Amino acid sequence: MQKDYMSVIVSTAASRFGIKALKPYQILVVHRILEQEDSPFVRNQIVILPTGTGKSMCFLLPAVLCRGITVIIYPLLALMNDQILRLRRAGVSCICLRGGQTPEQRSELFGQLDKGTKVVVTTPETLQNQQVLYELGRRSISLLVVDEAHVISQWGKDFRPAYSSLGNVVIRLRPHQVLAFTATASEQTIRDIRSCLFFSKPLIVKADADRPNIIYRTHRALNRAQAVLELARSCLRPAIVFCRTRTDAEMVCRFLVMELEGISTRFYHAGLPREAREDLEKWFMESEDGILVATSAYGMGMDKSSVRTVIHHRLPQTAEEYLQESGRAGRDGETATAFVVVTYRDVALFRIGGSSGSERSERPINDSFSNSPGKAYSPLLSIFLSDRCRRRALLHELGQDKDECTGCDVCLRQVPIGFSADSQIRSLIRRWPFRFNAMMASFLLCGTKNHNANPLMAITNPFFGSVHDWNPRLLFKTIKHLAEEDSSYPISSVQFLDQGRLLYPSDKLLYNVLAKLLRRIDNGYCWIIRKIRRLRLCLGKAGRFKDRRTGSKTSGTLRNQGTGGFLHFRKNRAGRQSHRS
Ligand SMILES: [Zn+2]
Repeated sequence: MQKDYMSVIVSTAASRFGIKALKPYQILVVHRILEQEDSPFVRNQIVILPTGTGKSMCFLLPAVLCRGITVIIYPLLALMNDQILRLRRAGVSCICLRGGQTPEQRSELFGQLDKGTKVVVTTPETLQNQQVLYELGRRSISLLVVDEAHVISQWGKDFRPAYSSLGNVVIRLRPHQVLAFTATASEQTIRDIRSCLFFSKPLIVKADADRPNIIYRTHRALNRAQAVLELARSCLRPAIVFCRTRTDAEMVCRFLVMELEGISTRFYHAGLPREAREDLEKWFMESEDGILVATSAYGMGMDKSSVRTVIHHRLPQTAEEYLQESGRAGRDGETATAFVVVTYRDVALFRIGGSSGSERSERPINDSFSNSPGKAYSPLLSIFLSDRCRRRALLHELGQDKDECTGCDVCLRQVPIGFSADSQIRSLIRRWPFRFNAMMASFLLCGTKNHNANPLMAITNPFFGSVHDWNPRLLFKTIKHLAEEDSSYPISSVQFLDQGRLLYPSDKLLYNVLAKLLRRIDNGYCWIIRKIRRLRLCLGKAGRFKDRRTGSKTSGTLRNQGTGGFLHFRKNRAGRQSHRS
């Protein structure tokens, strides 16, 4: 006789977990598990449901309803604690097997299984223990659940070898059904999970990986840290900033703390002690306006539903990881935004390298803000630099084709065009080449009075304070970096003067005339400046210039301290003179 699973599922979800309406995928998966409970022919399942769709309910409900024991394997202790709390709140008794427990503690826990406890929460490492395998193996196991099963593919090979040997655990425990759950999975990840856990072909339940309430956007910037600051200031909070390394997370967080007033910002990574991480998780869970700067260590199982913005300081290597991380936003179903920071250098390299990505992925990043070594360009950059729909491109990477986009900067026609501060830097240098050094230019642009500059000249300058939201030191570093190291940047061949003064009043006229001309020649002015330098060198040689300060005829280049050619000439000339005398 066909049982009425549907009413059992709905009533248990409501009475035990307080869930009034289950989602179609949850019902499908739970229904299939219960149907197979009595069947001798079992098809195991790989269930791929995006974050925020109630993945854990797909195995917590069957854990309550199945007759035998359910063993749930988690990669992290934090996740285990989370689920244990949830189960206890629902009145489901469970035991937790983990490292560091004494044999006495373990035997007491196994005793609880004989008294009716039906759920065992554990890690793959604990299941390597022979005693644990023996004790569990002699009991009837209905379900073996591997949550966050993508970890098998990501970590199983080297970082967490216990994941690779889960196949042996399946043989020893002989569970009636094996279930693997994950939020996103590429074809390769699915293959890895299959070969590790299943001895027959499993059913694959794959929900739409799209999160329609998340809007994907790029944010262009000359400097990564400044971009994060701009976004952190203006975005809806709570927000998470994802960095790729611990150093980056700490540096970005310190920078934000210095620059942002009244917004509490903290960093989180796996290198912090467990208590500190727990404190941070608690703080962020309760925070309504905070910013968490984190590595990918923050994520799995964190159930904060109201995150409004996720910012990627740097992109991960795969679309899977990106969708997992950006999926932290908007789990409550309300609109949320995922920003990706793209710098001038990313764009330049993308243009040089085309869209193949294979060559670029090996190139190290030399960022003006971060000096963390060993990072590589993400192949995902092409998605965020192209003019194709971001959502469709990301889902395409997971083998899913999407007809409609519910929001990305391309489809909304809101792709940012320039880089913040870029046009101001270019215009200032184009208008007054040689007047300011990099430090003075950054102080002027940020609207900070600098003791080296003429205060009147600074304040009356139309560019004074035009990028006041930048930190002058960061702008200085950025200008220096772009001018000296980034050959693709238009001001790259400009040499800033050390003292940054006009050479002569006559130069002023010459430069002003030039500046007027050059405004029409976008990038050609560097070439003209080189010509002028050469011209002045020749004029200096001819001895026509007369220094107004000293009155001498030959030292016309003495005050031009930043231009190596002139100094060279001066030294040579002085050398020749002393030689003659
Ligand atoms: Zn789109």
